[in-house]
Amino acid sequence: MHSSIAAWTAVEIRERFCRGDVSALEIADAFLANIERLDSRLGAFLLVRPEAVRDRARRLDERRAAGETFGPLAAVPVALKDNLCTRGIPTTCASRILKDFVPPYDATVVRRLLDADAVPIGKTNLDEFAMGSSTENSAVQVTRNPWDPSRIPGGSSGGSAVCVAADMAPIAVGSDTGGSIRQPAALCGVLGLKPTYGRVSRYGLVAFASSLDQIGPFARTAEDAALLLQVLAGHDPLDSTCARLPAPDFAAEAARPFEGTRIGLPREFFIEGMDGEVRALVEEAAHRLEAAGATLTGLTLPHNRIDVDGESLSSFAVAVYYIIATAEASSNLARYDGVRYGFRADEFRDMIDMYARSRGEGFGEEVKRRIVLGTYALSSGYYDAYYLKACKVRTIIRRDFDEAFKSVDLILAPTTPTAAFRVGEKTESPLEMYLSDVFTISANLAGNCAASVPCGFTGGGLPVGFQLIAPHWQEGRLLQAAHAWQQITDAHLRRPPIVGP
Ligand code: GLN
Repeated sequence: MHSSIAAWTAVEIRERFCRGDVSALEIADAFLANIERLDSRLGAFLLVRPEAVRDRARRLDERRAAGETFGPLAAVPVALKDNLCTRGIPTTCASRILKDFVPPYDATVVRRLLDADAVPIGKTNLDEFAMGSSTENSAVQVTRNPWDPSRIPGGSSGGSAVCVAADMAPIAVGSDTGGSIRQPAALCGVLGLKPTYGRVSRYGLVAFASSLDQIGPFARTAEDAALLLQVLAGHDPLDSTCARLPAPDFAAEAARPFEGTRIGLPREFFIEGMDGEVRALVEEAAHRLEAAGATLTGLTLPHNRIDVDGESLSSFAVAVYYIIATAEASSNLARYDGVRYGFRADEFRDMIDMYARSRGEGFGEEVKRRIVLGTYALSSGYYDAYYLKACKVRTIIRRDFDEAFKSVDLILAPTTPTAAFRVGEKTESPLEMYLSDVFTISANLAGNCAASVPCGFTGGGLPVGFQLIAPHWQEGRLLQAAHAWQQITDAHLRRPPIVGP
């Protein structure tokens, strides 16, 4: 009974709970049992409080017994990336500097999930402050790919992707600054969606790069992603960058007929340097979507060009991203000074020494590298040459997309250049690690919404995803195409062997 509950979609869980077929406690126990059984090997969670989870489930059961009505995520367990503030519950960003931080408030998305009657099941691992592509930069633990635990799950939202892939939660929330939802979704074989910048409130998301960060859903099916996005999206007076636009009915948009959708394949994203199997799977998916009623056209995004020189890749988008993201991070992370939050060094001579030691001991390598890079890019004399220049190129990159969307409804591309790599394989080379996001970063720079959808498996049994990019505010288009694809594939239904029958 329990193992089958953990395979249900969020839509099924809500319906069966509301019908009275199953209790919220049985549902919570099914997922907690999988966490207990699997997570010592996978390391997806930083914090699970089983008794608190069961208490919330019991309260939902009592309310059902009293004949109450429920919100759209009734009794649905949801995992939360640990950079989302949760009132009274530690929120660490997988950093030593926030090790003991307990927020006095909930992020807006957390508040909305609670109001929707979801059951938060735990806080998931990430690269420290969401900086990374493999979840190896966590100060706490490495998260492993359920399809092959010797490999990374992608990052930075690796924990959230893994818990959906391994049936430890039916849905999860992550954040995406340069690919951190889509890239781990692709490498773990689940669906991940980065909404349009401004669609979802960032209030209570610990800031990394504020002009790029967006919160979004992980799910197995397009319907579940629509359901979760519906709860996350919408205006919030607490975030001035959150748009004053009503969210459409995403489930209805996902169900609209797909025939006639115009899909563009950008020449720049099908490059020599990418893995042949990945390329073949993505191209095959494009042709099957064509057979399902889409029209395919080639197009060009000239400023999103990726240059290949032997083994090495370079792209304007990656270069621009690592100026802008680090500049914003250096400013955002200035608040961790040992005075107001979390960690403070035990011994210091004076105040300046206290700042230096607290930050020196509290931040990990990658975070420090970014603070130094970003501070440099913003310093007087270099500001114009680096930061300002990057902002200008960002605008040009965005115009490529505006131009392309005059003639197509969606852009289809690979999500990642390769399937999941081995733990430790790229930790010595930050640059190689940065290039894992070569296909995802542009959508953050341009603000567009984009999703990764499971498209198949390599010969070695590793999942591969394709990426869909849509115009601003057109998440419905992403969900509609993902839903159409899921009618003609079972790639999203397969489970990693570790999960068992
Ligand atoms: N991998 C990219 C980085 O390291 C993107 C991370 C993210 O989207 N949070 O910055």
